[in-house]
Amino acid sequence: MSDSIKIEQRSLFDSLDGLRVPKGQASLFPIVEEQAADKAASPAGPPLLEPSRENEWAGIDDLDELKRRILPCRACVLRSGAKGVVFGEGNPRAGIMFIGEGPGQTEDETGRPFVGRAGQLLDRALRFIGFSREDVFIANIVKCRPPNNRLPLPPEVEACLPHLKAQMRIIKPRVVVLLGALSSQTLINPAIRVTKDRGKWFTREGVEYLVTYHPAAVLRDEANKMKDFIGDMRSLREKWDKIQSGR
Ligand code: SF4
Repeated sequence: MSDSIKIEQRSLFDSLDGLRVPKGQASLFPIVEEQAADKAASPAGPPLLEPSRENEWAGIDDLDELKRRILPCRACVLRSGAKGVVFGEGNPRAGIMFIGEGPGQTEDETGRPFVGRAGQLLDRALRFIGFSREDVFIANIVKCRPPNNRLPLPPEVEACLPHLKAQMRIIKPRVVVLLGALSSQTLINPAIRVTKDRGKWFTREGVEYLVTYHPAAVLRDEANKMKDFIGDMRSLREKWDKIQSGR
């Protein structure tokens, strides 16, 4: 990651027109009330394997090997409704990780994290502060798409968390950006409320964590959230520069 990266002068706000959700169009995250109907419609899927355990990946220090081992995972019910496991992607030696909630439809179809409209916003926000997707590592709390993009349920988070923790152990990020409530509550404190706590930094075991909005939430409410989201990205850049300069 270059220290001399120049921050784009063009306003990010001006560059986001293509990402706006047109009036009257459904949000990126369909309503939770559809969960029950989706559950009833979901295929039974193959039998599940034993749930993941915390020490399951303890001896693996290579991200590619971890990916190879996780891709066949069927440790929770999410896998039965998803096309596949979305492991995450980016620089395996990244100093910065971004952690969202779970794959959406586009992510499920492509096997890549944050490649839909929310991902496009994240890409532009990264460029705005002088980073690219190749500079960071992007992952989710759960690695299979929840039905109808509902929030992952506690047993699903519990089953999948060892995968993320293994990724973090191998990558060893200095900074983790928590995109939305689920990642913030899972990795920092269940009492966190993004509307109240976004923009705050937390330190855990030598790692700096920043709470901010999920990009999909920003797209749903640009008028109230975009400015804060961009401010949080600027805060990330400042924190990273301080870390790099040893301040
Ligand atoms: S969501 Fe996580 S724990 Fe559940 S099947 Fe997918 S990879 Fe395994």
